[in-house]
Amino acid sequence: MENARCFANRFTDYKGALLVGQGVETVVPTVNAFIDTILKNVPLGPSDCDGGLYDGPAGAAYMLYHVSECAFFTYYRDAYLKIAKQIIDVSMAYVDGEKDKNMKAAFLLGGAGIYAVAAMVYKALGLADFVKPLTKFRSLWEVCSPINFLECGSDELFVGRAGYLCGALVLKQKLGIEILSKDQIQAICGAVVESGKQYALRKRKPSPLMYSYYGTEYLGAAHGLSSVLQMLLCYQDMLTEGDRDLVWQSVDFLMNQEQNCNWPAELGSVIERENELIHWCHGAPGVAYLFAKAYLINKKPQYLDTCIRSGELVWQKGLLKKGPGICHGVSGSAYVFLLLYRLTGNSKYIYRAQRFAEFLFTEEFKVGSCSITSVYSLFEGLSGTVCFLVDLLQPDQSEFPLFSVFV
Ligand SMILES: [Zn+2]
Repeated sequence: MENARCFANRFTDYKGALLVGQGVETVVPTVNAFIDTILKNVPLGPSDCDGGLYDGPAGAAYMLYHVSECAFFTYYRDAYLKIAKQIIDVSMAYVDGEKDKNMKAAFLLGGAGIYAVAAMVYKALGLADFVKPLTKFRSLWEVCSPINFLECGSDELFVGRAGYLCGALVLKQKLGIEILSKDQIQAICGAVVESGKQYALRKRKPSPLMYSYYGTEYLGAAHGLSSVLQMLLCYQDMLTEGDRDLVWQSVDFLMNQEQNCNWPAELGSVIERENELIHWCHGAPGVAYLFAKAYLINKKPQYLDTCIRSGELVWQKGLLKKGPGICHGVSGSAYVFLLLYRLTGNSKYIYRAQRFAEFLFTEEFKVGSCSITSVYSLFEGLSGTVCFLVDLLQPDQSEFPLFSVFV
């Protein structure tokens, strides 16, 4: 039976040789052409700034920043950074005027992400003014510290505390300076742990930490347990010993929720094989980053094995029909191979990422994919694809956009 969610993977697997024809001389012009299309089509006006980094114009600004940081694009660097600044300035003005302070603290969907990318772009341009958006980002820690600052759920990645922690991590990595003080980080991480403890106790959950978003107990990277735990692991040195134990217990709990190399979108549901979600947002391709982080910290082989099994499932069922993006599209699948390459050094994973890149240019993909709304955006559309194609040129430095594991 044909799978409704993915194309059949008919590629032969790695036999010891990488693909030729995906080198700098072909990819650089392809990326430049994509950027041209994106800039001609993405709405950039002051009234189009909704969606933040996820599917607003700010995501295109991040993509330009990412490309400009790649050594193969040195010639285009200044031009791309200047356009990135124009775009992010419009988004920043929009967010400055935002009345809802909670939306200002949102990372992927709101102000925190826009301020973070503005600081990166300004810094890359050599502007001392980068301190202004950075200061705005920093000031938001107070907004998201109260334990229930959002009614819908205060801890997930898109609008909650995990997102804010993620933003601080990416900023520290890109700017090379401390973003938050130890006290600030401890206040936020402490709130995440306390919130998860309270929820798990109140709802009698089998995991020591559990969270919900709009009433659903998600497990995946988008709104779920895995990215919350991933961020806590990133700051595990700052946690109390007791809290750190709860985090690791919860990591192992989530590891045991695996069903045939995948995770259900929400806690306790059973995966139907023919209709399973294998997306960065929901499922193995997003959960894998948590176990990658766990493995990088303590080198326990079971965490790496879990990542490898996720990668096998993605190779079989990751040619998704929901577009070229990183959230629930082919580039998001391929990023798992780049992650596995960085964890293992095995060139098989570069080959697999190359095959997925190749598939993006086939008629089968163009004709058989469902239409998506944000065609040019960072998470659903072509801006994310551009980040992936650039990372495939430099796999040793590749990372899923704005979701650092190797910090
Ligand atoms: Zn998605």
